[in-house]
Amino acid sequence: MSSRRKFLSDCGVLAGGAGFSYLTLGNTYWHEISKTKGKSSGLTLRFKPYDLHLKHVFTIAEGSRTSTPVMLTEIEFDNIIGYGEASMPPYLGESHETATAFLGRIDLAQFASPFLMEDILSYVDKLVPGNYAAKASVDIALHDLVGKLMKQPWYKIWGLNPARTPDISYTIGMDKPEVVRLKVKEAAPYKILKVKLGKGNDKEMIETVRSETDKPICVDINQGWTDRSKALEMAHWLKDMGVVFIEQPMSKDDFDNTAWLTQNSPLPIIADEAFQTMGDFRKVQGVYSGVNIKLMKCGGLRSAYVMIKMARALDMKVMIGCMTETSCAVTAAAQLSPLVDWADLDGNLLIDNDIFKGILIKDGKIVLPDAPGIGISKNNI
Ligand code: MG
Repeated sequence: MSSRRKFLSDCGVLAGGAGFSYLTLGNTYWHEISKTKGKSSGLTLRFKPYDLHLKHVFTIAEGSRTSTPVMLTEIEFDNIIGYGEASMPPYLGESHETATAFLGRIDLAQFASPFLMEDILSYVDKLVPGNYAAKASVDIALHDLVGKLMKQPWYKIWGLNPARTPDISYTIGMDKPEVVRLKVKEAAPYKILKVKLGKGNDKEMIETVRSETDKPICVDINQGWTDRSKALEMAHWLKDMGVVFIEQPMSKDDFDNTAWLTQNSPLPIIADEAFQTMGDFRKVQGVYSGVNIKLMKCGGLRSAYVMIKMARALDMKVMIGCMTETSCAVTAAAQLSPLVDWADLDGNLLIDNDIFKGILIKDGKIVLPDAPGIGISKNNI
């Protein structure tokens, strides 16, 4: 048995599930779900696993890696295809196997029209708990499809001003000083740098970056700090070094000490690992100054849009972030960027096998493509 067939077999895909088949396109397999018992609407979901290659070994407080598994999705209706993506860094608990199992359960052909987005995405959301990246891949593909059918990009459908896109930050992972200096040079087109800290060499990292540039910096601790007094001391030092906010300084479960830090910190404290879905506002309100919303954490654009509105209602800062992703998911998230304070949408720039073209960066700002749907086209690689 080939490794691909073994993979499909392991996932139960070859077991003859209802309406489940797979297509060969080039050297890769797309799993296709297009049939339902009785009448079919012609709404077809396809998906295939893909691995993103990182340009640099990516090191954060939780570990290092050189690739990220993603699932590419397509929803087709009336010969028009919407594209989506699930990015699944290992620490979030999803994988090619879990996404294949989840997506294999979805029957979109039961819906009469792709415009029934609330019905379709509520059905997908309720199918199984969790699986937020896999859910996001369906949500993004459906938004892309519906935008294409309406012949408009989503920022226009939402009534957002493309001139209000924020500066985008470029991520610099932990590394030796010479590599950090190289990465700062690579970040020349960007006006804000996002520096990963939390492994004990924080001051060395910031001083190295500062030896190359005086651009504003935001820092992501990825839960790496454990002592609130030291955290406050660092917050003051970082402010003096030109840092503008601190993301997830302490454990996602340490609400008391984080609330104390937020009350006393001269810099805003943003929740990332502590904040995933709408229900988490109950936990982070009064504990953090703002939230980092990511499509892969919350299940896609439909949730992210509502969560931005909710954060504003609670007078919280909003950042939109990403995982390592192709331009597909990054450009989808960018459609919402006129609504946020900070955009950390550089996941596509960290990989060397992006199969899509989408947002561009001009003068450090996101330029939203004037193209329908989520605004992407396919790269030939
Ligand atoms: Mg983060």
